[in-house]
Amino acid sequence: MIKLTVLGSGTCVPSLKRNAPGYLLEAGGLQALVDCGSGTLLQLEKAGRSYKEIDAVFITHRHPDHFADLIPLVQALLATPNYKREKDLFIIAPEGFREYYNMTVESLLSGAALDFVRIVEIYNNLDLASFQISTVKTVHSEDSIAYRFEHNGKVIVFTGDADYDQGVIDLSKNTDLLIIDCSFPDGMKVKGHLCARECGLIAEKAGAKKLLLSHIYPADSPDIERVIESGNAFGGEIILAEDLMELEV
Ligand SMILES: [Zn+2]
Ligand SMILES: [Zn+2]
Repeated sequence: MIKLTVLGSGTCVPSLKRNAPGYLLEAGGLQALVDCGSGTLLQLEKAGRSYKEIDAVFITHRHPDHFADLIPLVQALLATPNYKREKDLFIIAPEGFREYYNMTVESLLSGAALDFVRIVEIYNNLDLASFQISTVKTVHSEDSIAYRFEHNGKVIVFTGDADYDQGVIDLSKNTDLLIIDCSFPDGMKVKGHLCARECGLIAEKAGAKKLLLSHIYPADSPDIERVIESGNAFGGEIILAEDLMELEV
């Protein structure tokens, strides 16, 4: 069983309802964040979890709305009174992230011993604890990737930020849960992000069991209409993500 908590179903646009992207994955004793946009640490507190327990952070790409809270996370692990971080914190990210991390997080926290941080640049596949993880490049930014997590036969896929392409469909084959960039309703499609119908099409072609629409930009139409629009292309279950929603597969 894999447990997912949506910490942020929103984007870079500040919103009291939809925090910047962040998700908590829990399975087999591992607690991992997938993306860590601004506000993720507070959302984690609201979800009744602790930043101290996080084993790994998976970053989909370098846009700040997806990783900005890495800085307060590492700072909190360094500076919480009467607390010493004993276990490693794995930061798994696309190629080139180590240099970026050094320029941002490490340079801001200079002088502090960061010996618990393990940066891993992921190319294709990786095993971490009882998870088998694979990735694919997405059509969005220079470094953007999607992640597939498998644990005891259960599969969750995160597209990160993505446009429509075959790579995301292939990575999502037969997934139990597909967490997808549903930035816009069909009438507001922009390049580099998916609109609702495309989300449904990817889920349908991949044979996904359940589709979670997330990364919701504000739009002219009510968010729930995206469920109808993606349902025009996908016959399976579709859920509109909400912050602090919990799902299990
Ligand atoms: Zn984004
Ligand atoms: Zn982005």
